[in-house]
Amino acid sequence: MSERFIFTRHHTNCYHCGEDADQIIKAVSAQAQVICSACGATRIFIPRFENTGTVGVCTPIGCYNVWNIEADGRCKNCGVTGPHDLTIGCSHFTTRCRNCGYTHFYRFNLEYIGQCPVGEEEVSAPRAP
Ligand SMILES: [Zn+2]
Ligand SMILES: [Zn+2]
Repeated sequence: MSERFIFTRHHTNCYHCGEDADQIIKAVSAQAQVICSACGATRIFIPRFENTGTVGVCTPIGCYNVWNIEADGRCKNCGVTGPHDLTIGCSHFTTRCRNCGYTHFYRFNLEYIGQCPVGEEEVSAPRAP
């Protein structure tokens, strides 16, 4: 992940731990991630397609919690560093360049909890009270 495209944060209730915490948002052409700064819950999104033409608003279906965020990034299509509109839902992640309209669509791929060790043996750690 050496390419730097979108890097921002969004303060909201974490869907996982319920804390009011910063959610770190990172996106490059190959992948997008949302990481909770409180519990480490990470959602990985992978590219679905890219679009240079005009697209309608991507309406998420069955989503409980969609974030609409503005973040600066460098568009790989027009090369301008400027505001991008981010739309992040439970199953999709899109970035759209405000200058030329170039859009990346990502879809939800997997989720992991960063602070849980992934062991082959006992994974069921006791919950802290
Ligand atoms: Zn969390
Ligand atoms: Zn652009």
